[in-house]
Amino acid sequence: MKKIVVCGSTGSIGRQTLDVCRWFPGELQVMALTGGSNIELLAAQVREFHPAYAALADESRYQEFKELLGADCPTEILAGREAVQELAGLAGADMQVAAISGLAGLDSVLRGLEAGLDIAFANKETLVAAGALVMDKVHSSGANFYPVDSEHSAIWQCLDGRGDPASLVLTCSGGPFKDAAADVIAAATPEQTLRHPTWDMGAKITVDSATLMNKGLEVIEAHWLFDMPYERIEVVVHPESIIHSMVQYADGSLLAQMSYPDMCLPIQNALFYPERRANELRPLNFAELGKLTFRAPDTGRFPCLRLAIEAGKAGGTAPAVLSGANEVMNAAFLRGRIPLGGIYDGVAAVLDKHENGSAAELADIVAADAWARQTAADWLAAQGV
Ligand code: NDP
Ligand code: MG
Repeated sequence: MKKIVVCGSTGSIGRQTLDVCRWFPGELQVMALTGGSNIELLAAQVREFHPAYAALADESRYQEFKELLGADCPTEILAGREAVQELAGLAGADMQVAAISGLAGLDSVLRGLEAGLDIAFANKETLVAAGALVMDKVHSSGANFYPVDSEHSAIWQCLDGRGDPASLVLTCSGGPFKDAAADVIAAATPEQTLRHPTWDMGAKITVDSATLMNKGLEVIEAHWLFDMPYERIEVVVHPESIIHSMVQYADGSLLAQMSYPDMCLPIQNALFYPERRANELRPLNFAELGKLTFRAPDTGRFPCLRLAIEAGKAGGTAPAVLSGANEVMNAAFLRGRIPLGGIYDGVAAVLDKHENGSAAELADIVAADAWARQTAADWLAAQGV
């Protein structure tokens, strides 16, 4: 019985992690669940999975949450940022599923590693902002760090502990605007943007996928996870989302991992590695698929991809600033304050003002992130929105 803590259980990855737990009853024990503010869903998960602990990050809803579960609920109910972090490194657990969205998940990832838990890692913003720090902790803790992001899971499966790859090829669906003109993309609304053609994900990453910022963040994530120079990481648009990424070897062999798009598969791989278990997913039918297509990404229409890779290459605090400013712009877009094109404009403006520095210490990253968020808020205010 593997004992897991699901951080961000009320989100898209968290819910799909619990789907995988439903597929394998008796093999995965949910020891703790943490949510942000969705008390209704967290309460339903507590009633179904009977974890020893559950924590809500939003303290203001604690009483309501407790009342919802009733006085006779055997789960210990906690609230607040510190409580979430405590559960992230819970003694007796084997693995943490890191599925909080944004840099808000950094403390939980660090706490899990410090406690020696293996990590099933989805929370890419943490690795973008604090890659060196997190990977140092991974190595010093001896914990296993299994990627959940579908591209990184694909690469990890293709590598399978073997040799030194010549390059990595990250695939990209192209998002809902893959064929749209630049002015249409720039003026897009949240309603148009939240209709992703192949993946059903949380709102923040769905917006990032539409601007291709997500792919840029994933290039940085791959750089850290696989210790791969940026020059040897390629992005290719593959609208069918069947090949989840590829590894090119020096001998000319290229290995790809393929499946219909469903995040339960990379989650299952992380939870059960090295075992492969039969599940409810449909195997590929090539006759039905007919063909798979590929094209180069267009950084003219999707400048966020270029911006993110440049920040990754610059290193230091630039990726933390990129990611922090992007979180602010992404949220402003979802609230209707700026059009989709405003995300690039805002993040680029913040990066322009940024003086790069060392990101060796946690304090450097926290300070860079705070500066980026404040500078992004100032930029929004200057736009009169
Ligand atoms: P969601 O927005 O769906 O879920 C985010 C989760 O984090 C929710 O449980 C939310 O709680 C919780 N949360 C939000 N803010 C805080 C906070 N300040 N403190 C503690 N918990 C908080 O996101 P996704 O599941 O889509 O994504 C999660 C991570 O996985 C992201 O980093 C994303 O990039 C990555 N990822 C996601 C994929 C996907 O298919 N969705 C694919 C690959 C990577 P609540 O809702 O209760 O407020
Ligand atoms: Mg991905």
